[in-house]
Amino acid sequence: MVKRCAWGTCNSDSRYQERLVNEVEGTTVTFHHFPTEIRDKERRKTWIRACCRKDGFVCTKDSYVCSLHFVDKKGPTEEYPDPISATASRDTLRLLLGKLCMGWGRFGFKRRLLDFTCGKQKKKFSKLSTWEQFIITLVRLRRKITIETLADLFGISTGSTSRIIITWILFLEKELSFLLHFPTLSELDGIQYPKAFRGIPDLRGIIDCTEFYIETPNRLPSQRSTYSTYKSRNTFKLLVSISPIAHFNFVSNLFSGSISDKEIIRQSGFLDKLQPGDAIMADKGFNIQDLLALRETRLIAPPIMRKGTVSSKASTITRRIAKSPHPCWKSN
Ligand SMILES: [Zn+2]
Repeated sequence: MVKRCAWGTCNSDSRYQERLVNEVEGTTVTFHHFPTEIRDKERRKTWIRACCRKDGFVCTKDSYVCSLHFVDKKGPTEEYPDPISATASRDTLRLLLGKLCMGWGRFGFKRRLLDFTCGKQKKKFSKLSTWEQFIITLVRLRRKITIETLADLFGISTGSTSRIIITWILFLEKELSFLLHFPTLSELDGIQYPKAFRGIPDLRGIIDCTEFYIETPNRLPSQRSTYSTYKSRNTFKLLVSISPIAHFNFVSNLFSGSISDKEIIRQSGFLDKLQPGDAIMADKGFNIQDLLALRETRLIAPPIMRKGTVSSKASTITRRIAKSPHPCWKSN
């Protein structure tokens, strides 16, 4: 039995295997039956509507929609059981997003983005409005929808989509950097700390490193430098810090996964933020007392066990530190 996709203008057809295999992603297109009239009439109607056929299409038991038209391109899932509409083009989305974009003009993003890209944006991506480009970036960050799906939705090429996302991420980094303020002890004075941090004098930052899995790079030197022995995978690593009022006050650049915690502290510029008298809280793995001592700051860390025992004072400190919220728990 020949299986053909009924969605919009899609040409997926089981007779032409070459159309069904994506060698780059290592995936094969699968075909999915329409929900039956008896079991799920409403859903069947939704699927037919999503196909947007104006040529008198009649849905039969041999009608299919291929996996390419579902959000993660693997077919219906519990979260996204229906195919994306074949006319979810820029016009429909613009209408939908237009309702959401109240107050957009007030931010003046459009003008600032043009300044940021020295006017290049206007020529390159003029097909999409600034607001649509912003939405593409947010959707990508929040829902991890593939570049290909976003390109389909907005009717642009995958190359343009990834260029838009990269440009916007760099732009947002510049625009939002003011949020990462590293408050001094005098600025923190008088603010009520969360219970876990009360009674720890001079505490200005709680630090930890977090790692992101990446694909194994092709080049051997890159493989070696990104291999994290802690995670046994290739990763990128960064240092994050929260203030004792539990907001992020420092996020470092990304480093390759093989870097040590101590080295990341040294290279990330975190030490330059410190002032004499500050205290920094960290996990046991951070042997950075010497680096902090040079800045006349001190480290608060769980005591390391010596000869199998810890003193009662040390165990109280350990318990208190263990109770404190940690930046990586927050970020995850
Ligand atoms: Zn299809």
